[in-house]
Amino acid sequence: MSSEFVFAPVPRPVLPVLGTSALFPARRAYCIGRNFAAHAREMGHDPTREPPFFFNKSGDALQPVPYGRAAKHPYPSMTSNYHHEIEMVVALKSGGTDIPESEALDHVFGYAVGFDMTRRDLQDEAKNLRRPWDVSKSAEASGPVGPIHPVATVGHLSKGFIRCAVDGAVKQDGNLDQMIWSVAEQIVILSKYYRLEAGDVIFSGTPEGVGKVERGQRLTGSIEGLGEIVLDVA
Ligand code: MN
Repeated sequence: MSSEFVFAPVPRPVLPVLGTSALFPARRAYCIGRNFAAHAREMGHDPTREPPFFFNKSGDALQPVPYGRAAKHPYPSMTSNYHHEIEMVVALKSGGTDIPESEALDHVFGYAVGFDMTRRDLQDEAKNLRRPWDVSKSAEASGPVGPIHPVATVGHLSKGFIRCAVDGAVKQDGNLDQMIWSVAEQIVILSKYYRLEAGDVIFSGTPEGVGKVERGQRLTGSIEGLGEIVLDVA
């Protein structure tokens, strides 16, 4: 007996893979909070005393960004303080629960340049009112991600610049070696809470210098070894 849907399933985001026509079918998007000490301090926290915490961005909020040309990025509704957070995105090819650190990186398919775009005014309000962060983190297209660079090509990244510029002016300029919790540690900890799956992506944290972006501005994100992505905010 064949079954049918009551309506056509909405397509899920797929991310390009550099150097191939194959696509990466995305599932969940996990994000770590305050993973760079200087950024934790700029948000008013002491990075030395706080264990890592994670939140989710809707997997449907990922925006695939092509290689080598600017993508239009829609400015979301209900905010007047939309912030860029440049982040390295870790794309998983497999998963599991209680993954040991020695095996954690075996689950990584590749890495990409991404942004954890944030309606900061709504996040500030949520923090003040002790409400969830969802509306601040899961606006449509709020997770732009560039082409995935397979581990087979670039290896595992633990150092190198991570930068964001607005209209050519550098706003965030950090280094992956400033991460408080490594990619492997993030996978270990996340897998204690969730069963990670192929297609899951992890936004691995942003360096200091987050700030506002307006309609009409160009956002450029780059990570050493992973190229750059360019977004025209409209
Ligand atoms: Mn973030």
